[in-house]
Amino acid sequence: MTAIHLDRMTWTEVKLEIKNGRDTVIVPFGSTEQHGRHLPLGTDAVLGDEFGWAVAVRLDAFLAPTVRFGCSEHHLSFPGTISLGDETFQRIVTDVVASLSRHGFRRIVLLPTHGGNFKPLAEAFAKLGPVENVQVIAFTDLEGLVNAAFKSSNSSGVNPAQSGAHSGEWETSLMLALRPEQVKMDHAAEGFVGELSEIMAKVFDGIQNLDENGVLGDPRPATAAAGEKYFEDMVEFLYQWVEDQR
Ligand SMILES: [Zn+2]
Repeated sequence: MTAIHLDRMTWTEVKLEIKNGRDTVIVPFGSTEQHGRHLPLGTDAVLGDEFGWAVAVRLDAFLAPTVRFGCSEHHLSFPGTISLGDETFQRIVTDVVASLSRHGFRRIVLLPTHGGNFKPLAEAFAKLGPVENVQVIAFTDLEGLVNAAFKSSNSSGVNPAQSGAHSGEWETSLMLALRPEQVKMDHAAEGFVGELSEIMAKVFDGIQNLDENGVLGDPRPATAAAGEKYFEDMVEFLYQWVEDQR
């Protein structure tokens, strides 16, 4: 089992691979948005690249380039964040699926790695309807993903509030494992660690209302070793989800 980066192939190679049975393609949807004072703006795009690749390996699939802009309006008060409107995002989804549907792929997997993309992706997916000869599947279970992350963090003795929904222990550990040179642990500070379910609406009004650094969770207990385990846990979770859609 191996995977192939779609954009590193020639069109003739892509055609041949599809003909030989490599007929699944994964498209990750990340973001370019603030991730506190300690993580880079490209964090969710890195997660798209890395989770996308690892799941593609398990599926013997192609990995398309990660879409590096997402729906990040609730982060716009922080410099550098680039946000797409929901309508723009949905048109990208529609156009990506329409393009790939023409080439013989039998399965297109849409994989968001940024919380703000889940709802617009679900809406775009609902509007798509059936595509001839292609199974399009969209991972829209944000709650399932968050719970899987909390479960992983719990195995390191970290509670859900610290694990966090944005730049907390879980995401910071992943980045320490994947891109340690881009993590500034000396700037890691505790963010919002209250009850998330009660303030979800406030998150989408602007994350600065909850924490001035833009963090939900506590990155300070993060470690690379934990991140390696969280990565494996999440790849397994995502792979099982894809398999369950058969
Ligand atoms: Zn993130």
